[in-house]
Amino acid sequence: MGLKILTEHIHIPGINTFEVYRKHGGYSAVEKALKTMSPDEVVEEVKKSGIRGRGGAGFPMGMKWSFLAKPEGVPRYLVCNGDESEPGTFKDHYLMKNIPHLLIEGMIVSSFALGANKSFIYVRGELMYVIRILEKAIEEAKAAGFLGKNILGTGYDLELVVQPGGGAYICGEETALLESLEGKRGNPRNKPPFPAVKGLYESPTVVNNVESIANTPWIVNNGGDAYASIGIGRSTGTKLISASGNVKKPGVYEIELGVPVEEFIYSDEYLGGIRDGHYLKAVVAGGSSVPILPANLILKTAGGEQRLMTYESLSDGGFATGTMLGSGGFIVMDETNCIVRNTWNFSRFYHHESCGQCSPCREGTGWLEKVLYRIEHGQGNERDIDLLVDVAKRIEGNTICPLGDAAAWPVGSAIRHFRDEFEWHIKNPSEATRKGAVYMPE
Ligand code: NAD
Ligand code: SF4
Repeated sequence: MGLKILTEHIHIPGINTFEVYRKHGGYSAVEKALKTMSPDEVVEEVKKSGIRGRGGAGFPMGMKWSFLAKPEGVPRYLVCNGDESEPGTFKDHYLMKNIPHLLIEGMIVSSFALGANKSFIYVRGELMYVIRILEKAIEEAKAAGFLGKNILGTGYDLELVVQPGGGAYICGEETALLESLEGKRGNPRNKPPFPAVKGLYESPTVVNNVESIANTPWIVNNGGDAYASIGIGRSTGTKLISASGNVKKPGVYEIELGVPVEEFIYSDEYLGGIRDGHYLKAVVAGGSSVPILPANLILKTAGGEQRLMTYESLSDGGFATGTMLGSGGFIVMDETNCIVRNTWNFSRFYHHESCGQCSPCREGTGWLEKVLYRIEHGQGNERDIDLLVDVAKRIEGNTICPLGDAAAWPVGSAIRHFRDEFEWHIKNPSEATRKGAVYMPE
């Protein structure tokens, strides 16, 4: 069993209560940071850890913290992004509901490091029961002197607010989230300026994902160097992976970064392999916003190297951001899954969730959905595949926020790797629309 940083105690009965969490060493990082370290020392440890943002982009967390502007007399904010809505991604939900105090401890340590006295946890609006769990945990931590005025007599004050999300996928994009937190419609802002310079109420703000923040107590307790020694290369530490699809053991797994993808899919410690009698067809490794890879390319790269569960190894030649590890939403498909149907499904989602601010995304996602619908429903024509590629290319890189790219990449990669399946749908409309029919290569 690999090292568990976030989930070591998650199965202990009552760990959601302050009492049990504290009995298992909880809040020791708050004591250590506030009583024995300066804010800059905490930032330094996070930088040394090499941890990369766990929301999906993989941006180095310590670097983001060090970008935070510190103008005199202006408040700074820490906002935790718990608006987890990426299809296939359910790891923050798992953490918040089972071990809420870990996130709260991380929020205290991180807010102290950043000099924030009021911080927010923005939670996906549909998860009202999780919001109540967090609010109860905040009350408990406050009653024990870990939140509020003069925490543990150190002179540091922190108010922690839980905000229900606005109910749209786009509210998880960090600047849309800030708009929503300010009480407005969740429309993404143009960047730059980045939130680190001009964020919530135009003040410097750090927006970090739940999992990222939940790692900070361990980093404070054990040191950034210890964290950096886990994992491989620039993929340090552990990562929560929410696995779904046609595997024997779907669920949330904490893995040390660097586990071979093949081991993750087939070993009994993790997913236990593909369900009996079926075989691996494709994987979307990091939530629906990243390209899909066929079985032969998910286990090994085109150059024949073994693929690892790391930001670097899970990358694809033409993929702009360089990582398919994304949010860790690992969706596994076997031969009974239709790639055209799946791609249409993703496109329908992005079209529905587009905020409509920029035309390449507003119009383009509509076209992707429309053309994929007709291919899937036996009404496609020969030019449709190239039309899809063209529309996807026109969206990519031409929008205000990454939703446009996220809508384009799954389509581009599905056609790149499964073109024959799209062609089969167009050439065999009556067979392709027969209930349960799936393209089987010769
Ligand atoms: P991004 O690469 O634009 O930014 C990453 C982070 O780094 C942001 O916080 C940004 O403010 C910061 N940053 C980047 N350059 C900076 C600079 N020069 N100065 C200061 N700060 C800087 O990506 P993003 O928009 O934050 O996230 C996109 C990712 O989100 C996608 O890759 C997708 O995988 C993921 N995603 C996750 C979910 C989910 O539910 N977890 C949902 C949708 C998308
Ligand atoms: Fe809105 Fe789409 Fe433009 Fe993002 S890319 S701002 S979701 S229209």
